[in-house]
Order: sequence, then structure tokens, then C-alpha cells
Amino acid sequence: MSSQAKINLLDFDLQGLRGFFESIGEKPFRAVQLMKWIHQQGVAEFDIMSNLSKDLRNRLSELTEIRPPRVVQSQVSRDGTRKWLLSVETPQAPANGIEMVFIPEDHRGTLCISSQVGCSLDCSFCATARQGFNRNLSTGEIIGQVWLARRLLAEAGLDPAAITNIVLMGMGEPLLNFNNVVPALRLMLDDNAYGLSKRRVTLSTAGVVPVIDKLRQESDVSLAISLHAPNDELRDQLVPLNRKFPLAELLDACRRYLEGSQARRRITFEYVMLKGVNDSPEHARQLAKILQGIPSKINLIPFNPFHNAGYVRSADADIERFGEILLQQGYVATIRKTRGEDIDAACGQLVGQVQDRSRRHLKFVEPRPGAHTAF
Ligand code: SAH
Repeated sequence: MSSQAKINLLDFDLQGLRGFFESIGEKPFRAVQLMKWIHQQGVAEFDIMSNLSKDLRNRLSELTEIRPPRVVQSQVSRDGTRKWLLSVETPQAPANGIEMVFIPEDHRGTLCISSQVGCSLDCSFCATARQGFNRNLSTGEIIGQVWLARRLLAEAGLDPAAITNIVLMGMGEPLLNFNNVVPALRLMLDDNAYGLSKRRVTLSTAGVVPVIDKLRQESDVSLAISLHAPNDELRDQLVPLNRKFPLAELLDACRRYLEGSQARRRITFEYVMLKGVNDSPEHARQLAKILQGIPSKINLIPFNPFHNAGYVRSADADIERFGEILLQQGYVATIRKTRGEDIDAACGQLVGQVQDRSRRHLKFVEPRPGAHTAF
């Protein structure tokens, strides 16, 4: 059997591993043991798994492997931010690149991971959009980034436990890859795997409304919404998904997401600051108005430039004034520090050398009749 045809154990959450053991006639309780080896200890070699019998270890190495994405390139920023270009490949699909970023701060370390190769949403200010969409990542390729990042930090002489937070804010729209993302979220939260609290795992979405409701049933991770505009006319241009799920529907889904859960206390709204486009005091007042009654935290993101972007970052003074207006209206508003800019690791700058763009035309969004569009 060629190694590519083996089962990737990183594809399984606890339930999946139990099912796998049952399918090969083994006791399901082995799942917890194996999960601890793989995700807590970061072990890829079956020989080391001393509480599993020799026979079982042999069977596992015949049938399965632990196959994370492959590191193609790594870069370290002056500010300590690390970015890795990773290659993902399957027997059916050619190698493709995705990017992963680690952002160390004083009291936390955030790993930003990707959920798709490329992205289909075509947000007008995002570098990932320019390369189009190629394919969804598997669960193993999503959680494999976390597995791999811990190893890579250890190899660099850093503590793997420095990863205290995980954000699905890299390439792709996680809610358009729901079935593979959810088991990966479960592993992040599972005490026998990464054991992170739900406040430290954040899924960021451009607003796929029906799937926000589905997520609510499955998981209570923190939710971030890429809002970027306080009215439909502007948001239709910046985030074309808005033509399908306009602001009123999106904000209702946010209200529902928070219902009946302590852990989800607040929604983070991300707002990229684009000079002369969405950064006026009037925009700030509109934003304050539409978010009324939703427990929120507003994160202002200075636009990060890329080649031919067609946008310019708002002036610092304008960003501060925008934030001030929100504060005066009683909101928590922060300005996101730009990190890893010298290695193009900042928000919206991730691109991953997509090899096969044949599916670029597969757009998720159909324009709403009469919607205003800039394209
Ligand atoms: N599709 C998801 C996940 C990507 S998250 C989402 O839309 O939320 C990436 C975050 O970076 C989003 O908030 C996105 O809007 C923001 N972003 C994209 N391009 C950017 C840029 N050039 N500068 C600053 N932020 C950007």
C-alpha cells in the first residue's frame, strides 16, 4: 500500500477515532489513548506509544499515518511573528500552498490557521481573494496545522505551549467548509487533545448566515464577523457575500448565536480601515447604531496593502477618531496592531501559490437583483 493511501489519523476527532477502532475490530476506548499521544504529546511514531500493544501498533502503522501539511518555507518577522508556507496534497489533488501564522504577544500566543486553499468570497480588499478558490482543507489538514505548529515551535527552541489561542482567520471561509472545520474545533477544545477554552478559539466568518446557526448547534467557540461596512450598499461592494446575506439577517444571526450561552458572551466585529471608503465619522455613527443591543467588541484593522490592491490604509488619526466615536457610544473598540508586516503575514496578506485554479469560476455568491456593485 502506498503511503499516500493510508488513513490520516489527524482526520478524526474523538468520535471519529472510536469509529475507526471499531471498524478494525478494536476496543473504542483506545481512542482516548491514541488521541493523547497524537495531540497532547505531538507524537507521530507508533513505536513510542507504549500503552498500546505491539500488535496494535503494527496494525496502526500498516493502515494509518499521521500526515500533517508539509513545510515549504518559514519566515520570522522582526517582531517575532512567524509565517509558514505549507503544502497540502492528496492522491487526488495536486500540491497546493496555504499559509499559517504565529503571533507571539506578552501574555498570549495566537496561531492563525487556514480552512481552505484560496477563497471563493472575493472580498475586494483581500489578497487571498485574488487567487480564487481551489478546495476545502480536510479536518486533518486543518488540525494538522496546529499539530505541526507545536512541533515547529519546539524545533525553534520555543515552548509549544506558547500557542494559547487559535483563530480561523487565515485563508478561506471556515463556514463554507463546515463539515471539516467542526471536528477540528472539537479537537482544539477536547481536554484529551489541545484542551483550549472556547474563549480562546475564534472562528472568523464573512457571514454565511445559515451556517452561523448550524455552528451554534455544534460548538460554542467565539465568533468573529468580518463586517467592514455599516450599510448594505457599501458592504455589497466590499464583501460580495452581503448580496446573499444582508446586514439585517447577519446581525439577527449574531443575536441568535449569543442566546443562552455564557461562553459566547460577545461577538467580535472586524472592520478593516480603508481610506476614504469606510472610515468617516458618519460610518462610525452608523456602525454604532446597527450594533445596538448586540454584546460586541469592535476590532479596527488598519488595511494591509498588497500588490495592486487598489485601497490605501486609513490615516492613524482617522482610525483613532473612528474608535473614539465607538467608545463614546459605549462600545469596546480596539485597533489591531499590525504584526509581521515585513514578511507579508498580516491580515489579508496570505496567499499560498494555488496550483490549480480551474475551479475559480465556482462562485458561492449570486448577486441580489438590483444590488449595487463596483465590479
Ligand atoms: N473568511 C473569513 C476568514 C478570513 S479572516 C472572514 O472573512 O472572516 C481574515 C480577516 O482579515 C478578515 O476579517 C478579513 O476581512 C481581514 N482582511 C482581509 N484582507 C485584509 C487586508 N488587506 N487588510 C486587513 N485586513 C484584511
